[in-house]
Amino acid sequence: MAKKLIGIDLGGTTTKFAFIDTKGNILAKWRIPTDISEHGSHIVPNMIKSISDQMRKEDYNTEDFFGIGMGTPGAVDREKGTVVGAYNLGWDIVQPVGATISANLANSAALGEYWKGAGDTAQDVVFITLGTGVGGGVIANGKLVHGINGGAGEVGHITVVPNGYQCTCGKRGCLEQYASATGVVHIAKDMAQTFTGKSRIKELIDGDEDLTSKMVFFLADNGDILANQIVDRVCSYLGLALSHIGNTLNPENIIIGGGVSNAGNTLLQPTTRYFQENAFPSVRDSTKLKLAQLGNDAGVIGAASLALQFRNNQPFAAK
Ligand SMILES: [Zn+2]
Repeated sequence: MAKKLIGIDLGGTTTKFAFIDTKGNILAKWRIPTDISEHGSHIVPNMIKSISDQMRKEDYNTEDFFGIGMGTPGAVDREKGTVVGAYNLGWDIVQPVGATISANLANSAALGEYWKGAGDTAQDVVFITLGTGVGGGVIANGKLVHGINGGAGEVGHITVVPNGYQCTCGKRGCLEQYASATGVVHIAKDMAQTFTGKSRIKELIDGDEDLTSKMVFFLADNGDILANQIVDRVCSYLGLALSHIGNTLNPENIIIGGGVSNAGNTLLQPTTRYFQENAFPSVRDSTKLKLAQLGNDAGVIGAASLALQFRNNQPFAAK
């Protein structure tokens, strides 16, 4: 029987798992809640138990697998096999994660899209995820770029507005504050204040009702003038940031994923226009903006791809 890989996408509320073949096809996938109590000390034991249970259920044993790859929040020390600063997991101290290979979440999603999704056969791909925050991953010559301190691909913190909105990282004007789901709503609230025409968005904000980025894109599609102005502004910042990435790396594809990217062409078309306006001619003519294809599976698939390196390495030691 051909050996398989295990991918783990460790999130703050849910941990997703998959058994994956060496071509990147999902054979089985499941999820468990992430128990972040007691400084996250249950996370690793729970993951090991869940994998063992699933192996038993599918009649596999550890010899059927090359290894485990994991995407995790926080900074990964690949040499020591530890994770630090994953505060949303309750991991405020260094956590040993043992015989697995880890990358941060956006990086593993980037690897997933590179391997099986919108990356095609390109060797130079940048992935950007627009969710609650904005993350990213850079793949150059087929390899994930880590940087000197693990900070490569932090595209959410490219400054798009000098002295703009305060960011959680301590800086101001980061892309994350304008192109994440919360950023879109923040822009909507600001623009509604000065908008004088008729708009459902303005009614919702003035009535103190809940507004989501999904509603902004939906209303833009349905002809709401303010919603269209908001989307245009979001896309202008996103397109500008992506042009900086394009001008620096000239990747074949820049892949846009995460919940905000569900807006599809309503997001992609104006973003592409602003990207092209700001991109250097040779970049404009060659780097393509694309929507991600794997959705929620990108993380587990990319994480599993990390474990491919066990293939010619030491055997997978079961716990
Ligand atoms: Zn920031």
